[in-house]
Amino acid sequence: MSVKTRAALLKAPYDIELVEKELVCGEDDIIVKNHLIGICGSDKNFYRGQMPPKTAEFRQDPKFPFWLGHESGGTVVEVGAKVSEYKVGDQVIAFGWCNNYADYFMAKAFQLQPVPEGLDMDLASLGEPLACAMYSGLHSGVQLGDVVVVMGGGFAGQVIAQCAKKKGATKVVVADVLDGKLELARKLGADIAVNLKKQDLNQIVQDLTAGQGADVVVEAAGSESSFNTASEIIRHNGKFVFYSWVTQPITLNISRWHDDGLEFINTCLVHHTWRERYVWTPPSLRPVVQGDVEVRPLITHEFKLSEIKAAFELADKDDTAIKIVLRP
Ligand SMILES: [Zn+2]
Repeated sequence: MSVKTRAALLKAPYDIELVEKELVCGEDDIIVKNHLIGICGSDKNFYRGQMPPKTAEFRQDPKFPFWLGHESGGTVVEVGAKVSEYKVGDQVIAFGWCNNYADYFMAKAFQLQPVPEGLDMDLASLGEPLACAMYSGLHSGVQLGDVVVVMGGGFAGQVIAQCAKKKGATKVVVADVLDGKLELARKLGADIAVNLKKQDLNQIVQDLTAGQGADVVVEAAGSESSFNTASEIIRHNGKFVFYSWVTQPITLNISRWHDDGLEFINTCLVHHTWRERYVWTPPSLRPVVQGDVEVRPLITHEFKLSEIKAAFELADKDDTAIKIVLRP
């Protein structure tokens, strides 16, 4: 059987279009009707023509034309004869690059995850970025009493900052270059929000910690300066929590990594095997189901799928947009 869908094709940088496509369900394929689709920071990079090197993540080569989209969720409408993990009617979260800017997308079982009971479908559709950010927050090594700095007040940074506070950090500092994101971080419980363009983060952290440096710094901004600043403000033997995907070569001053014995924690959920991801996603999403972290305020813009051009123009131009979502 097959399903007709509109699907986003990124033909070249800044040139995205919905095209008609037919999904033919093979024996190990699963077709899902989308509920909601999110724009990821990595999608924005693709849109701007910053293609990453090919990694295990991709079933298609990261080159133009590119079938874009990976953050979504919905309801299974068709399964191939050999599929035993899912059945028609199941609600699922996408965990693969399956051209998800579409009415329907097709995936293999390992690229999906069941929606946890009690999770609203709008949030379940953002289950991949949420699980990733929560996994990072939960595995950041934050202890009661720590001073934690989160570099970047985007979607992930805002979730990780809330998580750090709930885990018992005495002070959570969120650093960004945009006042709108910092304002939101304060509303969501950050103790201190620092505008990196106007304030000296290093000085603020030194003052806060009697010159020791931060116990934990989570890098969720993904820029060269952010990595270098993070490397400066961590205390001796402090924890450098790695989250961002930096696809272009950058220059780092790493002397302190050695000299001050920094500890590195890689908290990228989706880059474990899918079996580990399958196990770790439910506990990562449990605090979201329970309402322990606030997610709704992070959905700053909503478009219809048909307005995908406008949605990406906004994503490209308005850096204060946190999570932009599209509804089929
Ligand atoms: Zn993503």
